[in-house]
Parts: sequence; C-alpha cells; structure tokens
Amino acid sequence: MILSQFQTVGRDLFAQGLVSSHSGNLSIKLGERLFITHRNSMLGCLREQDLVETGINKNDRATPLASTELRVHRSIYRQTPALAVVHAHPPHAVALSFMEEEIVPRDVEGRLLLSKVPILAGGGGIKPGELAEEIAEALKGYKVVLVRGHGSFAAGQLLEEAFEYTTALEASCRLLYLVKALNVGNIS
Ligand SMILES: [Zn+2]
Repeated sequence: MILSQFQTVGRDLFAQGLVSSHSGNLSIKLGERLFITHRNSMLGCLREQDLVETGINKNDRATPLASTELRVHRSIYRQTPALAVVHAHPPHAVALSFMEEEIVPRDVEGRLLLSKVPILAGGGGIKPGELAEEIAEALKGYKVVLVRGHGSFAAGQLLEEAFEYTTALEASCRLLYLVKALNVGNIS
C-alpha cells in the first residue's frame, strides 16, 4: 500500500521530466517514523528495497541509507503538520528561480492552488540537506517552495497532494517562461 503510493508518484515525476533518473526524493510520515526513498534510488521504478524507514528525531541503522535530503524532510515534519513531502527538479521552475525572487502564477489554476511560491537562495554550494530549517519555515505558509538553482519541496497530507503542488508549480512556470519568451508580459 505504502509502496504503491511511492511508485505512482515516483513514476509520474520521472515520466513528466520533473526528476532525472536518480534524482528527487519522496517521504511520508507515520507517527514518529518516516518512510523515505533510498539515497540514489530511481524514482521512475521504485522497488520495495528503495524505501527506507527511520526516525524523524532519532537516527538508527537505516538512517545512512536514506536520501541525502533526509535533513530537509525531517525538518519539515518537525515544523509543519505535513504527512508527505515531494522533492523534485522541475526544469522551468528551476530556470525561473535564477532570475526571480518569487513565483506568482499567472494562470488561474496555479493562482488558486498555490497563490505564490517563495524562492530561497541557496548558500552557493547547494549541498543536499542545505536550508533544511528555512525550507520548513517557508512551508508553514506555502504549499511548495523553490530553492534557487536546485528544485522544489512540496508538503501535503498525501504524496499525491504534494505531487499535485509540484506539477502545478511546473505548469505555471512553463507558462510564465512562454510568456516571457514571447515578450508579451502584459498578458493577464
Ligand atoms: Zn535535489
């Protein structure tokens, strides 16, 4: 049951080009524990052994096997009511993150669903796990946040919900990109 949720979202993230073969990570919270994708796993074809169960507050033997973004996922679960987190690299959103301070969707769906998406500046190196506290803090007020030059972190009650915010962000950013490319910035 848990595995099939991960497989559905992982496969669709990969199929839509929102992660490359070995990037991105997913997790869900269950009480004081979390299930997170194995480091370097392929989201497009997740198997049972690609899920790692470990503590939200405590390390155990499985902890080193978890995604390198474990720190961010843990921080989100400590600071927000989220039960699921999706981290992806949506290309149009990441491209716009280099030149914008925030994403304000111009399409109706994006506006209604996301309202606004903050962009957090990476510390320069963009190391995995970086900005864990800042990302969690931003997700108290927003459904999805972007880290400049890196990717998105979305939080929800279900993986599917966090996936929805991720795809909505990329759809809005693709449209913003097209509008900019057409140089018709006054279209509303
Ligand atoms: Zn990443």
